[in-house]
Amino acid sequence: MTNIAENLKAVHARMDSAAKDAGRAPEDIQLICVSKTRPARDVHLASCEGEEHFGENYLQESVEKVAQIGTHGVTWHFIGPIQSNKTRPIAELFDWVHSVDRIKIAERLSRQRPEALGALNILLQINISHEASKSGLLENEIEEALKVCCALPNLQVRGFMAIPEATDDKALQHTNFAKMNDLLKKYQQSYPQLTELSMGMSGDLEAAIHEGATMVRIGTDIFGKRNYS
Ligand SMILES: *Cc1c(COP(=O)(O)O)cnc(C)c1O
Repeated sequence: MTNIAENLKAVHARMDSAAKDAGRAPEDIQLICVSKTRPARDVHLASCEGEEHFGENYLQESVEKVAQIGTHGVTWHFIGPIQSNKTRPIAELFDWVHSVDRIKIAERLSRQRPEALGALNILLQINISHEASKSGLLENEIEEALKVCCALPNLQVRGFMAIPEATDDKALQHTNFAKMNDLLKKYQQSYPQLTELSMGMSGDLEAAIHEGATMVRIGTDIFGKRNYS
């Protein structure tokens, strides 16, 4: 049986220890509990342990879960692939979108964001390992994306997100995350509102925190192994 409360304690201990090793303040790193494929009950259990930030990948599933759990005391993050004809529920239900990988998606989210909710926080997803199978902007596409997205009325561009190639090679984990940190620093000079780096999952959160992650997205090590991705 998965003990979500115990798992959360262990994840926070790992995060705190990684922050300490890196000389960073633990409160500068936000845990996003990735609840994809998990029932609303699991979100409820984590929220009883004091967690407020939840990440979802699959639109249909997340629409149902948000309806069950609501938005009171919960901040919802959309972190999955986005189809351009399915942006409206994302714009209406979520507080953050980490997986904005093309300008067209940002334009639609801005247009469809209900004004009463205030600006939608977005991160630009960067394909830092240049994997053909992964979505995300390449480095040479970032400048133009920032220029367009930062001018959209109902969005706040807050930083970058990455899902680097899966690897147990610690040195490679550090290299990829450090590249993300370099990109953030570079673009912060023109866009000081870019303060967030969403990177690090169950297998590589230590490396991500060491290289400057401000949000880590953890699923398996909180909720247990999934039957599908
Ligand atoms: C599933 C997923 C995670 C969580 O991964 P774990 O290895 O289960 O911690 C984080 N980010 C994204 C984008 C995901 O799809």
